[in-house]
Amino acid sequence: MTATLIDGKALAAEVRAEVTQRVARLRERGLQPALAVILVGDNPASQTYVRHKGSDCESVGMRFVLDRYPAELSQAALLARIAALNADPAIHGMLVQLPLPPHIDPHAVIAAIAPAKDADGFHVHSAGALLIGLPGFKPCTPYGCMRMLRAAGVDPKGRHAVVVGRSNIVGKPMALMLLQANATVTICHSATPDLGAITRQADILVAAVGRRRMITADMVKPGAAVIDVGMNQDEAGRLCGDVDFAAVREVAGWITPVPGGVGPMTRAMLLVNTVEAAERALA
Ligand code: NDP
Repeated sequence: MTATLIDGKALAAEVRAEVTQRVARLRERGLQPALAVILVGDNPASQTYVRHKGSDCESVGMRFVLDRYPAELSQAALLARIAALNADPAIHGMLVQLPLPPHIDPHAVIAAIAPAKDADGFHVHSAGALLIGLPGFKPCTPYGCMRMLRAAGVDPKGRHAVVVGRSNIVGKPMALMLLQANATVTICHSATPDLGAITRQADILVAAVGRRRMITADMVKPGAAVIDVGMNQDEAGRLCGDVDFAAVREVAGWITPVPGGVGPMTRAMLLVNTVEAAERALA
């Protein structure tokens, strides 16, 4: 059996088309949704991510505001800039590109963002809303994974979902979203013994670790939906996920590729959060 591919690139294009329509409706009412991104320092990967965010915004008719600062920027100056963006009614969504230089506390920075403009969904207010089931901004990566499951027709209700990884931006919110969708959820991490014994029980398996080929075919239940969040490099320096794709696709029922899976969906869901912030600002 060869798994059905969940095409993140194609689905992201659908999501962008939906956002484009929502943006157009807002613009008819005199509001152009705007995303502000603050980039501190010159991390090459961060620069690439930010460039993509800019072109994504432009592709759906949103305004994109980029604030670039040298790595020496003080935390106080960064907090002051966030306060100014919080107070600016023409800015609807905002994020600070991570990682930040070591002298800046990312928790303090994220806490300074107005929850109503928290486009990344990383604020404790957003995390708390997700925990107790209130509406709020959801972190883009797990939000995109849920959308991929839905598009594939995989309903988490009554299924055993196993999430490998427990970061605040991927693993934990992923587990909460699956729980909210009525899955029975197990979270695994670096101290989990016999990982394969648990992953083999998964109807839905989400790998969010950052270690190439750590999920091998013998760790996957036949017919499972496998979502590969990992972004690693293979021996040849090419982008690859956490899942041994070639082998696992022969066992799984559904699988997301890397590249072309979760990555494009993460980008698309940032646009969803931003347009939603703008809609709420008008409501
Ligand atoms: P983190 O490094 O913050 O978290 C990794 C998690 O994996 C930790 O919870 C860690 O456990 C766990 N882990 C490490 N080793 C093992 C192991 N041997 N067995 C089981 N669990 C293990 O990473 P992120 O959550 O930020 O990202 C995970 C991956 O997803 C990365 O490759 C990242 O690049 C990618 N990513 C991709 C995105 C996309 O858009 N496609 C977006 C965001 C991330 P512990 O907590 O015990 O240390």
